[in-house]
Amino acid sequence: MSEKAALDRALHHATEYLESLETRSVITTATHEELTERLDIELQDKSLPAEQVIDELARGVEGGLLTSGGGRFFAWAIGGTLPAALAADWLSSAWDQNAGIYACSPALAILENTCGNWLKDVLGLPPSASFAFVTGCQMAHVTALAAARHKLLADRGWDVEKRGLAGAPQITIHTGELRHESILRAARFLGLGLDAVRHHPCSSDGQLDLDAVEASLDDGPSVIVLQAGEFNTGNYDDFARAAELARKHQGWVHVDGAIGLWAAASAKTRHLMKGCELLDSWATDGHKWLNLPFDTGFVFVAHPEAHKQSMTIRASYFSAGGEGIRDQIDWGPEWSRRARSVPAYAALRSLGRRGLEELVDRCCEHARAIVAGIGALPGVEVVSEPIINQGILRFLAKDGDHDRRTDEVIDRIQAKGVTWFGGSNWRGTRVMRVIVLNWRTREKDVADAIESVRQVLEELDG
Ligand SMILES: *Cc1c(COP(=O)(O)O)cnc(C)c1O
Repeated sequence: MSEKAALDRALHHATEYLESLETRSVITTATHEELTERLDIELQDKSLPAEQVIDELARGVEGGLLTSGGGRFFAWAIGGTLPAALAADWLSSAWDQNAGIYACSPALAILENTCGNWLKDVLGLPPSASFAFVTGCQMAHVTALAAARHKLLADRGWDVEKRGLAGAPQITIHTGELRHESILRAARFLGLGLDAVRHHPCSSDGQLDLDAVEASLDDGPSVIVLQAGEFNTGNYDDFARAAELARKHQGWVHVDGAIGLWAAASAKTRHLMKGCELLDSWATDGHKWLNLPFDTGFVFVAHPEAHKQSMTIRASYFSAGGEGIRDQIDWGPEWSRRARSVPAYAALRSLGRRGLEELVDRCCEHARAIVAGIGALPGVEVVSEPIINQGILRFLAKDGDHDRRTDEVIDRIQAKGVTWFGGSNWRGTRVMRVIVLNWRTREKDVADAIESVRQVLEELDG
């Protein structure tokens, strides 16, 4: 078996794919039946040469990959992958280091520490905060809320790691009706339960009503969960006010900043993050706006001791690094894991502060241009102009059934294969969501996307 032959084949298929992104259809071209026939096969008895496996794999998925890594894809929240991050990710697999403890890979433990410090710096977070590299924002929430659970209960004389939750003071999570679902799943994972979540109203533009939160806060253990970049509108909550409320009630404020935390990296959007540095924990993604390959999220905690107590673990077969040494296992929920810091480090190095700021600004500009361009077409209503890199629109029907019309237009746009937007619900109406997260998106992609929507509307009404 030739390792190099297999890697050469992978390089060939990867570059061929990446070069096709500019021109290929955004939609899949193979049917479910075709893909199943090719991929859902019996596992054979005999071994195969690695290069043959790679070739057949690349052929097998053909037509079944969504072009979400391309520059004309504006749905969900899917970033691209920066070239340096992709290349570094390959290296990380080649090195195959276990990034769980320092002793397994001193270089990569140091690299993660450096990268964590860079991230706090570019995101405007306190240098004293602890951090962890996790699989995504979902697990960042779990990690942050585990630290919150530890501290809120320890402050009230309860050791949750030892005693569990049965009989413990009941923790309440105060959040907005527009919170991301991943917050709810974190509450489930941590044994807090969905009944612990109290949903409060949000303003018409999506901000959590902190008066309502204040009115229902008591001195029981409470977590307030805010948003930096609400999922549809990109709106920001009032961080300073929430931090003050939590201080008064010995609570904890966590922020879901999967996308919006990156506004801190640009002078144009940094003001949105005012007061964010006062919070207790922060969750964000690496695979969205930082344009890392899946799967990387980051969590930061203002109370390192609580963070560590909630995550740390020891076994007879490894020892702690000691003074000045950071063992990754102390800060995240995993045991063995890949070195997510490698692509993150490479992405930040390749961008530099300036490049990161330009990436953030460029995505915001493109989002504004798309919303304005589509918004100027007949029968289109701009529901929310971008605050950062996302906005929402809807399509108006002559018969007044705007929801049906909006879904119909979205389906037609997707079917054309030029560009891809997704649908969402906003305040009881169907909307089309525009979000720009990919370093590849250029002005031409923006123009092509708007033109494709124009054609769809013309075809529908013509
Ligand atoms: C994507 C997203 C999440 C979940 O993050 P994952 O990286 O998919 O785990 C949470 N909150 C918001 C606002 C998101 O956009």
